[in-house]
Amino acid sequence: MHTQTLPPATTVDSFTIGRCDACGTLLAPDATTCSSCRNTAISRTSSEGTGSIVSWTVIEISPSRTCTDFTPYTIAIVALDEGPWTYAWIEGALDGNQKRARVRYDRMIAGEPYPLFVCQ
Ligand SMILES: [Zn+2]
Repeated sequence: MHTQTLPPATTVDSFTIGRCDACGTLLAPDATTCSSCRNTAISRTSSEGTGSIVSWTVIEISPSRTCTDFTPYTIAIVALDEGPWTYAWIEGALDGNQKRARVRYDRMIAGEPYPLFVCQ
């Protein structure tokens, strides 16, 4: 049970991550507990939105049964330059040579909890 309610990430225009009110540790966007001191008072702070892909999986998204315009997207773990790791959608598909590819925040996708990043 959460002790506070964070605003949905989709309500902000810019990419934000968490920051512990007690010790200042920077945290993943959806963090509700500080990984350093276990404090649950987490503030939002803006992020540069740049980082490197740690790993990823390609997912074929079908918007509806009648739509044949399948769009491959990639869900990735991104190590932000500020330190925290976050899940992120990557536009398009990556190949095996793009490990540790540099990515940057692009936008939030309506209805999706994770931000969309694009390759730099
Ligand atoms: Zn802390």
